[in-house]
Amino acid sequence: MTASAEHFPALVLNADYRPLSYFPLSLWSWQDALKSVFLGRVNIVSEYDRVVHSPTFEMRLPSVICLKRYVQRKRQPAFTRFNLFLRDGFTCQYCGSEDDLTFDHVLPRRLGGQTSWQNITTACAKCNMQKGGRLPKEARMFPKIKPYIPSAENLNEMGRHFPPNYLHESWRDFLYWDAELLD
Ligand SMILES: [Zn+2]
Repeated sequence: MTASAEHFPALVLNADYRPLSYFPLSLWSWQDALKSVFLGRVNIVSEYDRVVHSPTFEMRLPSVICLKRYVQRKRQPAFTRFNLFLRDGFTCQYCGSEDDLTFDHVLPRRLGGQTSWQNITTACAKCNMQKGGRLPKEARMFPKIKPYIPSAENLNEMGRHFPPNYLHESWRDFLYWDAELLD
């Protein structure tokens, strides 16, 4: 989803005032945001200047809302192409390239290598081809990070490095993209 100013999306924070999700950034349409406000599920933290009217009321569209009840993150992220790329920071684990990304079975399939978090790494097409069906030590190619099962926190942490194209100014207080620079 690409958020643009025209859609007036609301940034959704968990009850601890951290985004429900960083990547993709938790954004709701203004319609969904208003619905949740009226159902009493969220508090409005910040608003756009844009006002909506109905016969009986007018109000400004929320730009940041906060869930009243804390939502526990899922412990185990789904094993998907996207999540795998995210775990590996969208970079080839052999050469660091960010182009033409594919998946490599570290232990080749022909040797019984599984398609799993622990055996799949992100590789650019060139490295994937070069490694072919060989073992890392045969190819002398070792993934920078040994493939692992990420937690939802791991992926969320990675997601912070990939800010979306559109950021409303009222969201900035809640998105610490530059946290590593402050540490
Ligand atoms: Zn590569």
